[in-house]
Amino acid sequence: MRSARVKALGCLWILCLGPLFSYPSAQAASRTDIDHAIVQLGKTVPNMKLEVELTKTWSRAYVSDRIEGALLTMDPDFLNRLTPDGVLFVIAHEYAHVHLEHQKKLGLKAMELAGMPTPDMAFDAIERNPTTMEKLHAMNRQFELDADEAATKWLASLGVIACTEDVLRSIDGADMMMPVVPSHPGYYSRREVICRK
Ligand SMILES: [Zn+2]
Repeated sequence: MRSARVKALGCLWILCLGPLFSYPSAQAASRTDIDHAIVQLGKTVPNMKLEVELTKTWSRAYVSDRIEGALLTMDPDFLNRLTPDGVLFVIAHEYAHVHLEHQKKLGLKAMELAGMPTPDMAFDAIERNPTTMEKLHAMNRQFELDADEAATKWLASLGVIACTEDVLRSIDGADMMMPVVPSHPGYYSRREVICRK
């Protein structure tokens, strides 16, 4: 009984890891691509300041807007699955959240909806209220599309087309979302923004 369970777990392990090895490893992105992307984006985004930390995380990538500057936390396995242009897009998308002050706006909206004096207290109260939560989700979904649109424009100004298989694959089913509100728009609505002519 016990060994059967161990065997089953072994199979699961292979099933889960299998897809990780199916990407062409020659194209896998690395830390160098992150540094390069930040320099590139700095040419088109005024006063851009972003620190990137590679660490195992529940999300693929998420950004925190701190007083001392924005911090992007990125999962190393996610990075390995991206191409260099994919890295450029992901970093542009995440930084767009900072540039457009999305975290601050979500906090203010939450305070307004919950009638609470701080964002933390407001998010806490809203978590127990599905109807109000959906209003915040709707705002967040729009912010994700706005970040895609800004990223697409920034890449275009650098001569990089975001509407490619590599980039679209990298965001497919992505939870590159704001950490406070677990909601994101679907692949097709994001594709429509990125590939809009
Ligand atoms: Zn996002």
